[in-house]
Amino acid sequence: MRLSTYLMPTLKENPLEAQIVSHRLMLRAGMIRQSAAGIYTWLPLGYRVLRKIEQIVREEQDRAGAQELLMPTLQNSELWKQSGRYDAYGPEMLRITDRHDRVLVYGPTAEEVINDIARNELKSYKETPKILYNIQWKFRDEVRPRFGVMRGREFLMKDAYSFDLTYEGAKHSYNKMFVAYLRTFARCGVHAIPMKASTGPIGGDLSHEFIVLAETGEEQVYCHKDYLNMEIPNEDIDYNSDLEPLYQKWTSLYAATEEKFDKEEADKIGDNLISARGIEVGQVFYYGKKYSIPMNVSVMGEDGKPVYIEGGCYGIGVSRLMGAIIEACHDDNGIIWPESVAPFKVGLINLTTGKEISDKACEDMYSKLVKAGVEVLYDDRNERAGVKFSTMDLIGLPWQVLVGARGLEKGVVEIKNRKTGEKKEVSVEEAINFLTK
Ligand code: ATP
Ligand code: MG
Repeated sequence: MRLSTYLMPTLKENPLEAQIVSHRLMLRAGMIRQSAAGIYTWLPLGYRVLRKIEQIVREEQDRAGAQELLMPTLQNSELWKQSGRYDAYGPEMLRITDRHDRVLVYGPTAEEVINDIARNELKSYKETPKILYNIQWKFRDEVRPRFGVMRGREFLMKDAYSFDLTYEGAKHSYNKMFVAYLRTFARCGVHAIPMKASTGPIGGDLSHEFIVLAETGEEQVYCHKDYLNMEIPNEDIDYNSDLEPLYQKWTSLYAATEEKFDKEEADKIGDNLISARGIEVGQVFYYGKKYSIPMNVSVMGEDGKPVYIEGGCYGIGVSRLMGAIIEACHDDNGIIWPESVAPFKVGLINLTTGKEISDKACEDMYSKLVKAGVEVLYDDRNERAGVKFSTMDLIGLPWQVLVGARGLEKGVVEIKNRKTGEKKEVSVEEAINFLTK
């Protein structure tokens, strides 16, 4: 991508409306623009990152054996009456009346829709277990939308739902999602700690919130400090094996959100306790028969008798996760993207645009890198070098290549690591080899 033609409206000044660093940086880097309170347009740079995060979430759901489908954003309110949540959900749920005076709901979550699918389409115990998920926009009419995409009204969520015959089966599905979450957040470059959580309006009795520690987090949380160095399961993990030992390992130390804070437990670990602020990037719930009984979701059991489904639901705030990544990965100059979610891997900076020697070298590198499949943002604008440096630091691509007439006369360009600030001089060819490997 050539920056001269790219829609990336960066801002020099800090926007007044942004109170936290991720919101500030997303606005300043030209990634999002607010369209209405808590509702955003994702500009090209922001949308690239959103899609990368979404793809990591998808790959880890698929690896765990979950199947992707797509449910509508507008839902039939009758289903919500059947589950008993139509009134319970309250003013956070946006209700819309169509021309036939039928009420539709803009889904804040999708238990009703998926349980309607399950009761119609799952007939026999042989069709269980199943985990179904979608990555779809949700709407919650939050009283105070704030902090940019962290607490929006419209936001992107991955929501998965499990269908099992027994509690043991449901617990295995829960463990699968639990492990998939550990892997997902680690791949996105953040450390999310599973903490005992209260189950809220979704109900049920087993739940964990995955929390990224950050000063600006909305939640007060407590956890054992060893959680900061716990080993993440690798990609060869066998999801059909017994995951309970792994689950036990990851829940054996103390970690809880404020609502579940237990002073006695906390005192036991003394100096090892961390008290911090945190951002909830995901939550897993086991909810048993909470929906299957009122909505009559059952399958034929082995003995020919109907069995109510044991269910669970598993959410990840895909758009909020982007904010959490920035909260965890930035410095005074801007964002520092983990390579896995960076909008581009390389920022190619022409320090002397208009000079033949650097224009030619940049064009040559750009086309070779693109041909090799490397994602490059080429700053070919007619701007001063200083402006280009600060733009690149602001948008936080992992690698910068600085190409100027003076260096090229000596046969070198500079590669800079955004995270460490380290720079090294290499030949054009070495630069290409390094960035394509
Ligand atoms: P919160 O307590 O922050 O309001 P929640 O517990 O109500 O969130 P869930 O129902 O667990 O949210 O939804 C799954 C995930 O969706 C959350 O873990 C969070 O990452 C994300 N999420 C929830 N509400 C919002 C929002 N208003 N804006 C952005 N992401 C959100
Ligand atoms: Mg939650």
